[in-house]
Amino acid sequence: MQKLQEVDPEIAALILAEEVRQWSKLRLIPSENYASAAVMAATGSVLTNKYSEGYAGKRYYEGQQYIDAIESLCIERAKHLFGMAHANVQPYSGSVANLAVYMAVLQPGDTVMGMSLPHGGHLTHGWNVSATGKLYRSVQYGVSKDTELLDYDAIFDLAVKERPKMIIAGATAYPRVIDFAAFATIAKEIGAVLVADVAHISGLIVGGAHPSPAGLANIVCTTTHKTLRGPRGGMILCDEPWAKAVDKAVFPGLQGGPHDNTTAALAVALKEAGADSFRAYAHQIVANARTMAERLAEHGFRLVTGGTDNHLVLMDTTTVGAPGKPVAQALDRAGIVTNANTVPFDPRKPFDPSGVRLGTPAVTSRGMKEPEMRQIADWIAGAVQARNDETKLAKLADDVREFCDAFPPPGYPPGYSSGHPVPLI
Ligand SMILES: *Cc1c(COP(=O)(O)O)cnc(C)c1O
Repeated sequence: MQKLQEVDPEIAALILAEEVRQWSKLRLIPSENYASAAVMAATGSVLTNKYSEGYAGKRYYEGQQYIDAIESLCIERAKHLFGMAHANVQPYSGSVANLAVYMAVLQPGDTVMGMSLPHGGHLTHGWNVSATGKLYRSVQYGVSKDTELLDYDAIFDLAVKERPKMIIAGATAYPRVIDFAAFATIAKEIGAVLVADVAHISGLIVGGAHPSPAGLANIVCTTTHKTLRGPRGGMILCDEPWAKAVDKAVFPGLQGGPHDNTTAALAVALKEAGADSFRAYAHQIVANARTMAERLAEHGFRLVTGGTDNHLVLMDTTTVGAPGKPVAQALDRAGIVTNANTVPFDPRKPFDPSGVRLGTPAVTSRGMKEPEMRQIADWIAGAVQARNDETKLAKLADDVREFCDAFPPPGYPPGYSSGHPVPLI
């Protein structure tokens, strides 16, 4: 950091400020987390200097003595942890991993079926502005209007009618368990390839806090930086028959050289995720989300599906008098960071939706438990009420900062506090 300060004081100051922000705010965006110091050390290592197009033992450039060992170790850990036969750990992100799976399974114009974005699906599940919705014929399923739960009968009927070649099971804003067995039955009925996109819940799966798609889905893709708490990246796991096509789609189909520093950091994160303490972490994430949901409901927020089984809560804030965007902005000023989100069948526009999405992975990484979740829910209710009162919001932000000082996140050195921020690297 001293070198960075010398060479580029502007960027150094901004990184330091972001370190303080991540320390002193309650980060409730469900896709965010805190990577460990070990993961960040590997990310910032000399591995960023290497080129290694290809796969272990079949590289285009020389000098792969250590890179091959790192990538092989990462693959072995991924296969073991997820219980799948093959792993590709090179995708630069979750979106690229998904696109690689499309390339491995489909021809342009083929039909894919995924969850619609406004119901909780991801852009890359065939939404119309995404390459996945432009290059392929996309049909979209959603949740039931009455229950806001995935309607497996309706998904079955749609699959039989449209006969997609590939079905994607997975979501980015769905607070309940995804029934991979039900999806497998549907895929089998029409001979479709089943892909589970577990980007949000992969940490819960390896920690035993959400059922695994292993043995049910042909291909599983995930990000590595959400509940899994690794570096930013993506990963694809699959059955043996898909191994070759997946590898070819990632390289040379879509990418050039893999980010070897990220691969090493992912290997570290997978080792951490295999520890007993990670199982406890995954279960605590869910217990925390349930507790926060209950308290938010007591404060009058309408929760989509009435609650949660996983790491996230989706709430309709119009029931307490304001749509999602101004609520999320007021919460941010109070030191509580969330994102505005559509709710299923939202009558409002995507950029000005009815809801707010929040989650517990990052605060659980700080060691916060049920009592802290109740406190946070009370603060959320208070901030929403005081959303036009800047003095009250600033006072709340002070209380939040003080509270956060008692829960050091992973990755920060001993002795760090909001009053005494020291550079992390
Ligand atoms: C986050 C997410 C992705 C995309 O990951 P990026 O790393 O942001 O590209 C894909 N699918 C789902 C379900 C996600 O939640």
